[in-house]
Amino acid sequence: MELSTSVQYIKGVGPKTAQRFAKLGVETAGQLLELYPRDYVDYSRPYPVASAPYEGSCVVKATVYSKQGEVRVKGGKRMCKVLAGDETAMLELVWFNNPYTAEKLEIGAEYLFFGRVGGNFGKRQMIAPVVQPATGGQPLTAVYPQTEGLHSAYIARCVAAVLEGLQGQIPDPLPPDILHRYRLPGKAQALAAIHRPQTMDQVKAARRRLIYEELLTLQLGILLLRSRGRKGDAAAIRAADLEPFFASLPFSPTDAQRRASGEILSDMSHSRPMNRLLQGDVGSGKTLVAAAAVYAASRAGFQSALMAPTEILATQHAATLQKLLAPFGVEVALLTGGMRAAARRQTLAAIADGRAQLVVGTHAVLSEGVEFSNLALAITDEQHRFGVRQRQLLAAKARSPHLLVMSATPIPRTLALLLYGELDISVLDQLPPGRQPVKTLAITGKKRGDMFGFLDKQIAAGRQVYFVCPLIEESEGAAGEMQSATAYLEQTVQPLLPGRRIGLMHGRLKPKEKQAVMDAFKAGELDALVSTTVIEVGVDVPNATVMVIENAERYGLSALHQLRGRVGRGGGESWCILVSDHQSEAVRQRLQFLCHTSDGFAIARYDLENRGPGDFFGKRQHGLPALKLADLMTDTRTLQAAQQDAADLLAADPRLDSWPALADQVQRLFEQNTAMN
Ligand code: ADP
Ligand code: MG
Repeated sequence: MELSTSVQYIKGVGPKTAQRFAKLGVETAGQLLELYPRDYVDYSRPYPVASAPYEGSCVVKATVYSKQGEVRVKGGKRMCKVLAGDETAMLELVWFNNPYTAEKLEIGAEYLFFGRVGGNFGKRQMIAPVVQPATGGQPLTAVYPQTEGLHSAYIARCVAAVLEGLQGQIPDPLPPDILHRYRLPGKAQALAAIHRPQTMDQVKAARRRLIYEELLTLQLGILLLRSRGRKGDAAAIRAADLEPFFASLPFSPTDAQRRASGEILSDMSHSRPMNRLLQGDVGSGKTLVAAAAVYAASRAGFQSALMAPTEILATQHAATLQKLLAPFGVEVALLTGGMRAAARRQTLAAIADGRAQLVVGTHAVLSEGVEFSNLALAITDEQHRFGVRQRQLLAAKARSPHLLVMSATPIPRTLALLLYGELDISVLDQLPPGRQPVKTLAITGKKRGDMFGFLDKQIAAGRQVYFVCPLIEESEGAAGEMQSATAYLEQTVQPLLPGRRIGLMHGRLKPKEKQAVMDAFKAGELDALVSTTVIEVGVDVPNATVMVIENAERYGLSALHQLRGRVGRGGGESWCILVSDHQSEAVRQRLQFLCHTSDGFAIARYDLENRGPGDFFGKRQHGLPALKLADLMTDTRTLQAAQQDAADLLAADPRLDSWPALADQVQRLFEQNTAMN
């Protein structure tokens, strides 16, 4: 047997069961060994019958007293009963349609039974327990994730057969000095221990090793991807003097903005293409840094492109950048899907002959038919909607442009390294001076009336309000979203804000209609805007000072923080009101944390610790392979070590020639996850 042997050839597995294994993602012997137990049953400390807990499953030690022959019960099932017990109490054991287990039990012998104790105090009962002899059995047995037709004990037997068949043939992908440095068990030993341990300490050591290996493999893959992405020749842009640009601004840039701009210019001055992530909290002024990069490119005679996830954002960026760059004669072209053919043709011509020095648009900028004259810098905004794949598509667009990715969600550094490991990172860790934190409060629906009184006063004072309407189930789709938004507008907002001008924004609107609503809101022709969560992240309406979020408990804190970032953009006092009727203690604490914190990084960390990485690792946010054992919340130290070691390994041996088993494993990981390619 080899690691690549099909599971079908494992003893006791046929084509049918092989199909079931395939459903678990297991097609080879090697993959079976990576089907890790999700728990263990500890047979070493059994309960006496009388003290066996009624909740959950447990192991009980008991002697078999008598057996009752098989009987038919209603439903046509055949039932076997065995009476067992110890000096503390009796225990009835029952099996349906399985005479074999009971047959093998010997009267007068002692066994360990694993199962759920049911019945009542008069009669304790276990249905279909797993049986082991009282002595000489496995002290710990693995519990596997089950699917239809593959139960845990069966999987355990198949794993045992593979471990047996592969003896001495499992290569260790980890370099010996790493094993030595962290005192990790070898691969074969770790696999044996995680599947068939003698003690929980062995499991712990095995997990430590396998988690490290998993994270190292992942990190190596990301770094290799990065070196692949870095091939090719970019335009070396002589670093421009940014002072004239900075001096033209109505304010002075923050130190963080200066530092990030410097890092970007320095990257761009090399012919090796830049791959940089610009991270910063909402409102930290990422647009300005992007403008500085565009300025530098245009000084050197090169074109830039900026992509936003929606047309509204693209339109807004075009206007902002136009204003910032106009003093330097930089021509900005906006390219949207909704353009008329003639206008589009003109714009495309201006892009092709180089007159348009900055092209702003949605993903459409990536589409065919857009030919640049000399594109040297590509920027994407609100990174979380751009996958690795899109980044690569962009990189392939022209002759390797420098790439700058701007992220809206601040994330802790270790995570950023994992998610964007192929990118270098600049952080804006400073907000422009004079920002007042957005006053944030959490209320229940009972206070909604009071809230509307407050909102009406704000509107009377000339301010504007955003409403994020109640969430609906994703399955209800855009139509459900529209209904929910409409219902909220008509049944709640309009009656409680009589006579006010209220706009409605939802996913069913055409881009033109969305733009019209947004323009009206920006121009102050609307007092309030009711929106579904499609509310355009990144919109900048300084006069809007209140953000109301219904169903606040349904969002991650980072998402709430993003939404909150839509207000507090002007000089005035602003508010974010989180409305939630489902205030469990946990929800209350979470929302309170947001009320008292305005640091996006701290909020992201809190989310990570309390909700897990799901919010960051939601499907559409990345194309990373799923982790089998590692947990990014608890394994951060291992992750850090693996990140460092991966970098060191590649620095010494860029193609991992000395570590073929490791190189192989990286290769396989990324083959299984084509999203990354
Ligand atoms: P984000 O990082 O969320 O994209 P923006 O680039 O939209 O932030 O900037 C938020 C607001 O802050 C904008 O109105 C912008 O004009 C303003 N701004 C940016 N940099 C500074 C600065 N150094 N001083 C004062 N205001 C600034
Ligand atoms: Mg922005």
